[in-house]
Amino acid sequence: MELPEITMFEHGIIQVKIAMSYPLRWVNSYIIVGDHTWSVIDPGPRSEENEAAWQKVWGTLELDVAQLESIILTHHHPDHYGLAGWLQAQSDAPVYMSARSLAEARLSWGEGNTAAYDLIDFYTVNGMPNEITDQLPEHLQSFVAQVLPQPQVSIITPEQPFKISGHWWIPIQTSGHAAGHLSFYQADWKLMICGDAVLPQISPNISLIPNSDPEPLQSYLDGLRILGEYEVEWAYPGHRRPFTGFRERTVKLLDHHEQRLDAMAERIRIQPLNGYDVCMSIFNSKLTLHQLRFAMSETLAHLEELIRRDRAHKYQQDGIWIYTAHE
Ligand SMILES: [Zn+2]
Ligand SMILES: [Zn+2]
Repeated sequence: MELPEITMFEHGIIQVKIAMSYPLRWVNSYIIVGDHTWSVIDPGPRSEENEAAWQKVWGTLELDVAQLESIILTHHHPDHYGLAGWLQAQSDAPVYMSARSLAEARLSWGEGNTAAYDLIDFYTVNGMPNEITDQLPEHLQSFVAQVLPQPQVSIITPEQPFKISGHWWIPIQTSGHAAGHLSFYQADWKLMICGDAVLPQISPNISLIPNSDPEPLQSYLDGLRILGEYEVEWAYPGHRRPFTGFRERTVKLLDHHEQRLDAMAERIRIQPLNGYDVCMSIFNSKLTLHQLRFAMSETLAHLEELIRRDRAHKYQQDGIWIYTAHE
């Protein structure tokens, strides 16, 4: 196992690139080093390689795992939450996330959860063919190994200052990419650790999924406006590189979604379509199952936002939802 790429930033912040699957390739874990302690934000997906990688990281940085103060999670997705339980077992450190994130984790990874079957039903009534939905249980099951063992979780309250390695940060809860997602703002340093709420270059996936936020795109856009109010010199995202121009990036993402809403409205203005057909017409048809799942939920998030804005409505035909535009 090679040592992952490690980059030191100001104020004791260290970026560690932890490997994950294509197309993202790595997730950014952040170590925040204090005087006598250190903390980890988003340790990455669990695998034997990543466990070995972490052991190399703290060995190389001469950090004592017994001194690990806290493991903090921006959200419950496996590429961020996955290693939390393992790291907790190594260190005995508390694992923190928002109450809403914990609820989402239980929905996705909790014992006896029905997430895969709920998703099949949901995609089926939105037009996805059976030969694709049939593959979903196995596909979703493949992520379970990335999140075991599951951590004992302590709760972070949004907006209440939270101490990380000796300094106070403000947890800011937004939704849309993942319900209950937390970003962390350090006012003295004008730093934002933004998880997957705002990414450079990539538009974070907005997912409509069963039993979660029913209006994820509206929630996401509201969240961008909230985050864009903060004075940020450097943003530390969950993927790609730390970046400047945080506020401008939030504006760009707001624009991107308005354009995508217009593009989808145009598709269903020309002819009424089900969600899967809209998805196929907007996104590249050569998607892996993983990418297709993201594209499908992203499409449905936009179509429901068109309805919420009274730009479209839907009706059922032979058990499938059909969307049609008003304009
Ligand atoms: Zn995510
Ligand atoms: Zn991520």
